[in-house]
Amino acid sequence: MNKPKNTMKVSFPSRGANEGLARMLIAAFVTEADPTVEELCDIKTAVSEAVTNCIVHAYPDRIGEIYIAAALSENNLLTVKVRDHGCGIADVEQAMEPLFTTDPEGERSGMGFTVMESFTDRVRVRSKPGKGTVVRLEKNISIT
Ligand code: ATP
Ligand code: MG
Repeated sequence: MNKPKNTMKVSFPSRGANEGLARMLIAAFVTEADPTVEELCDIKTAVSEAVTNCIVHAYPDRIGEIYIAAALSENNLLTVKVRDHGCGIADVEQAMEPLFTTDPEGERSGMGFTVMESFTDRVRVRSKPGKGTVVRLEKNISIT
């Protein structure tokens, strides 16, 4: 069992400004694992994509709460859960396909989940329409 050596739980409203807050929070949390510049950049980008999805998709026309729960294990596995109580995703498999977006008219390119998958070691999504979504990201931080 990967016992966590540290954990963090934080929540904030789905305001655009809080995408930057989430990036800084996760960067600060993972600092003690001494990630490489590239690992740090990857983690911040993946978390930012998940949080942006909550802001623009989960709560499209209102401000809702976004919850982040992070854990760092003794062997430097970082787990980050990004949860919302928004609209949910009807078909998760389809949503995770590269270039799939429900907002083709807008500025979205449908690459958020693809970015999360390429910048982390594992992405798992659980969602219930009308109830919300949990995106779980896992990243192994190299032990130096
Ligand atoms: P991009 O991330 O490239 O700007 P995108 O957000 O549309 O575009 P993804 O991040 O891959 O692309 O998400 C794909 C689709 O999954 C979204 O268009 C949206 O319909 C749905 N989705 C993703 N996250 C959520 C969420 N938290 N709540 C509700 N729907 C979501
Ligand atoms: Mg997205």
